[in-house]
Amino acid sequence: MKAAVVTGFGKPLEIQERPVPEPGPGQVLVRMETCGICHTDIHAARGDWPVRPRLPFVPGHEGIGPVTAVGFGVGAGLVGSRVAVPWLGSSCGSCRYCVTGRETLCESQVNTGYSVDGCYAEYTVADARAVVRVPDAVPSFEAAPLTCAGVTTYKAIKAAAVVPAERVAVFGAGGLGHLAVQYARLVGGFVSAVDIEPDKLGLAHQLGADQVVNSRTHDPVEEIGRAGGADVALVLATAPQAFEQAFRSLDRGGRLVVVALPGGDASMDLPIHKTVLGGISVIGSVVGTRQDLAEVFALHAAGRTRVIAEPRRLEQVDDAFDEVLGGRAEARLVLEF
Ligand code: ZN
Ligand code: ZN
Repeated sequence: MKAAVVTGFGKPLEIQERPVPEPGPGQVLVRMETCGICHTDIHAARGDWPVRPRLPFVPGHEGIGPVTAVGFGVGAGLVGSRVAVPWLGSSCGSCRYCVTGRETLCESQVNTGYSVDGCYAEYTVADARAVVRVPDAVPSFEAAPLTCAGVTTYKAIKAAAVVPAERVAVFGAGGLGHLAVQYARLVGGFVSAVDIEPDKLGLAHQLGADQVVNSRTHDPVEEIGRAGGADVALVLATAPQAFEQAFRSLDRGGRLVVVALPGGDASMDLPIHKTVLGGISVIGSVVGTRQDLAEVFALHAAGRTRVIAEPRRLEQVDDAFDEVLGGRAEARLVLEF
């Protein structure tokens, strides 16, 4: 099978011919139909974060396709089912997080395309308990971006406990942002989308954003303030000023939801007085659970969300990374096999 392999941090990926992996006990073999390109894959391939993947490795955690074989202990009934292979490759199943529906916090978790080989390959093996079935009404091309960009922003909106008529400011309107705008709308929020790319802002507007702000030409804190201030600010962009502007755009009682992970071991400054006197909450939100992903698929199957993506071939993966880094991809790029 063909696989795109990271052999050195910051080096172009190598397209290699590899044997199709065998599913081990508790695993399934999935034949990839599509895999979305997430910014995390680029961070992984460049070794940007404090804990780096072990080389060589295959990135990708938005993989979709049918199960073609199962390992020992997995029911053969799963063969033929179309599944999503998400970032959470496996969790221990028995720690206090796992037993309370918070498996994304498990300290023994394994991450697809980071600590184990992922989905930039024609086949991958995955833990049978970690994959999520894709409803027939959701095409594989659309299921891919929902598997990380979708579930991550869906979870962030849930974590912020948005109620109708609250204002949600979305900082970063691309791959994640275009879905965040829709989830914020689904729960009745007014949406302010902030980005530096006019195309992404145009897309956010089409998808229902009530206000769009180009932060290259306008101060988002001022503009969002003019609209009444934000009750919730989601940070999906990695630029340091996005964190700072998101915080300052909040009204009293506001919730800052931090999703983006900049390179290095970044930190953010919080003004203590505004946080205390304004009753501000700061919430970290990482991907979403299997149940969250099932809900994301159910909403999409019911026609409540739209996925904006463009297809690419596995061989184009390096150019695709450049497109994402240069902000030229309108929303998500999806590898088709
Ligand atoms: Zn991701
Ligand atoms: Zn656990």
